[in-house]
Amino acid sequence: MTVMESIEEHLEEHGVKPTAVRILVWKACARKKESFSLNDMEESMPEMDRSSIFRALRLFTDHHLLHEINDGTGHQKYCVCRCEDSHHLNHVHFTCRKCGKTYCLEDYTIPIVELPDGFAVQEAEYVIKGVCPKCK
Ligand SMILES: [Zn+2]
Ligand SMILES: [Zn+2]
Ligand SMILES: [Zn+2]
Repeated sequence: MTVMESIEEHLEEHGVKPTAVRILVWKACARKKESFSLNDMEESMPEMDRSSIFRALRLFTDHHLLHEINDGTGHQKYCVCRCEDSHHLNHVHFTCRKCGKTYCLEDYTIPIVELPDGFAVQEAEYVIKGVCPKCK
């Protein structure tokens, strides 16, 4: 199986029709080790126009291929979903107040909070703010 085939399958499994643009954007996403913003994606793919990248990122988010992170920096950030089963048992994020980088702490899952009757969790976001090891 070629790499291209497996990307197409991955997108299709998540209900995303694998168009040429989406495959390119997904490849760039999958290469990122940490969270990224629309600007970061634009820098990695200068040949692509911003609105096409943005639309692909939105679509991937809606289909649980990406997680959206609101880290308070004013830039919407995304990371690749690697959840094994339940999407809302997501990992913790850490935003450094000095460099503005948001780290994916993949081994640290969001603690489960007991909610009042009638409230159904779909997704949770957990962003911790502080200073990263590089800025210490
Ligand atoms: Zn996920
Ligand atoms: Zn830092
Ligand atoms: Zn993440």
